[in-house]
Amino acid sequence: MTLQRDTILHIGFDDTDSLQGSCTTHLATIIIEEIDAQVTFLDYPRLIRNNPNIPWKTRGNGAIGFTIKTPEEEVDQVIVTIKKSIESYYQPDENTNPGLVVVKGNIPEIIKEFSKRALIEVLSIEEAKDIATNHCFDHYFIGNGRGLIGGLAAIGNNLNPRNEDFTYEILTYRIPDNYGTKRRLEEETVYEMDNKLSPEVFNNIDEETNKILICPAGPDPVFYGIRGEEADKLLEASSIVKPKEPLDNYCIFRTNQGTDQHFNYADNQVENFRVFKGIIQITKKPQVLLGGHIILQGKIEHSEKLVDLAAFEPSKGFKKKINKLLPNDRILAYGGIKYKKELKIHTIQLEKCEILTISDHYKESSPYCPKCSKRMTSAGRNKGHKCKKCGFKDSNTQKIKTKIERKIDIELLIPPAQAQRHLVKPHRRYTVKRKERVKFVENWWKKYTNL
Ligand SMILES: [Zn+2]
Repeated sequence: MTLQRDTILHIGFDDTDSLQGSCTTHLATIIIEEIDAQVTFLDYPRLIRNNPNIPWKTRGNGAIGFTIKTPEEEVDQVIVTIKKSIESYYQPDENTNPGLVVVKGNIPEIIKEFSKRALIEVLSIEEAKDIATNHCFDHYFIGNGRGLIGGLAAIGNNLNPRNEDFTYEILTYRIPDNYGTKRRLEEETVYEMDNKLSPEVFNNIDEETNKILICPAGPDPVFYGIRGEEADKLLEASSIVKPKEPLDNYCIFRTNQGTDQHFNYADNQVENFRVFKGIIQITKKPQVLLGGHIILQGKIEHSEKLVDLAAFEPSKGFKKKINKLLPNDRILAYGGIKYKKELKIHTIQLEKCEILTISDHYKESSPYCPKCSKRMTSAGRNKGHKCKKCGFKDSNTQKIKTKIERKIDIELLIPPAQAQRHLVKPHRRYTVKRKERVKFVENWWKKYTNL
């Protein structure tokens, strides 16, 4: 008998997807199939969403992390297999710059710190290359190496239940013949699943429009994704939803989606593309722009810096409430920062908003006539009021001040599911108990056979 020494490997990769339709989670599923016989997975594959405001990344900005165990002599072979999978899968494109990072044993602190910054900042490729070179067992990239940033972040942000909230997503994939065609499923089974399992599942249906949200619209291989609190519930959810086309495989990911993790590390620094969280005092009444966007102005408490705040379509109910804010109201704003060169001002694109203080506002009106009780009109500046009906005049009357009824509450506002960014914690999750551990289910991924 020979004793095998096992090695723990942390593997992170990113930027393998393009707008043309490939998908990083799908590549993860392909890699899992390739290496499953050689390795033991110590965690679900992690789908880590990083700063959503980075314009040169695909909208979701998701990277993948694996934590696996493998016999020492298999390590090199496993890494080669993953590199080959990335090379054969990614679609060459100037905006697709895959990166792969491998850490052996303990995760260095510098990578953990880097992963927290990746949630809220714009990080440089140079810094990622430097860390990968000096602190990783191996790294590899194609193109400019941008994928190393997300790769490192997916390793460092390991969603340890001791200090981080996390959720799961089950993703199912289509057979290649169906790519690009309309996704077909029995829609009523999605409502049935949501009714039965909510709040253990979330964001399947938009609460304002009742629209089904689990299927993406694009040419990518994802058939549907269902988000939830525990993996076993997602397997149950998936058994209820009935597709009307054959599927290729599925995989459950552990993720920071729906957790507000970026806001937990955000602050009130104002910098282009950064994630912002801070108290703002409204200085100007909201304006409704063409297309229905809402813009208002405020100043950041402490720094006094003036910023614009924006709420976009299609966050209907959210926007309506934002539109009721008035000067001197105070809010805790959560969002992404965009610098508008033409206007020389930073705009916070609101992802969430807590109304903290509602200020008093008054309207002024002319007093009533003491003789005939008709409302008088102004007799001119500092000339009091006159009555048009009976001719009464009094140069000493003042306007009456009445408090305006503010139809707004002290509350937390979150856009409806279809307008939410991946990382945003929905209302439904505020009542969910914090998970203490990662519960592994047996069939966390599966390839359907005999298709
Ligand atoms: Zn009168």
